[in-house]
Amino acid sequence: MSGQSKGSNYKINIAIDGPAGAGKSTVARMVAKRLGYVYVDTGAMYRAATLRLRELGISPESPSEVLQAAQKMVIELIPGEEGQKVLLDGRDITEEIRSRDVNSNVSRYAQIEGLRSLMVSLQRQMALRKGVVMDGRDIGTTVLPDAEVKVFMTAAAEERARRRYQEMKNPEAITLEQLTRDIAERDRLDAERKISPLRQASDATLLDTTSMTTDEAAEAIVALCEAYGMERSVE
Ligand code: C5P
Repeated sequence: MSGQSKGSNYKINIAIDGPAGAGKSTVARMVAKRLGYVYVDTGAMYRAATLRLRELGISPESPSEVLQAAQKMVIELIPGEEGQKVLLDGRDITEEIRSRDVNSNVSRYAQIEGLRSLMVSLQRQMALRKGVVMDGRDIGTTVLPDAEVKVFMTAAAEERARRRYQEMKNPEAITLEQLTRDIAERDRLDAERKISPLRQASDATLLDTTSMTTDEAAEAIVALCEAYGMERSVE
């Protein structure tokens, strides 16, 4: 970023939102690497809470129990060479949070106001010192409304399902059709919920990645950051 290349350690926050499978996490990680920033995967936090709530047998129909249990959880996102590790009370749950059970339940817990407030305050703390690339559903609208660069990343529904299918470690466990339906249902719940629904912030740049490689998408976001730095330097 030109603001940074002038020798200052000026850093910005970058918010990336969008539906499931749009490529947010891969691209956000690439952008963070290029800029020397920290990547924060907020979906992993909702997934970690979901895994634990399922283990405890707490239903999304009992919001006060959900909140009580969530307040006791310690969720850590540890950046590493081979991607981010997710720890729950010290236990490595990086793989477990990608299970079909978590996939099909996470959006039901993510509608709960108390759980969202808890997650939002943790996420804001992580971004306090700037230099964060955060991806999710409500980052540009609610978590970091002042983020200097905001992107709403999307892609055609069939393409998003195809990407998720290719990423799966055990694709035989589910068909592409089932996965397409699961994703559509999750997007519906995320977009229709009352609190912080999935939507593009009015000041976010729309990035349709249907026919883009992850490299091209990361490049486009780095270019937005550079443009921000240039604007800033002429102010
Ligand atoms: O990003 P990912 O697909 O892992 O997110 C899993 C789920 O977590 C989403 O479908 C959504 O229900 C919830 N989520 C959310 N707000 C965020 C990030 C994720 O509600 N900022």
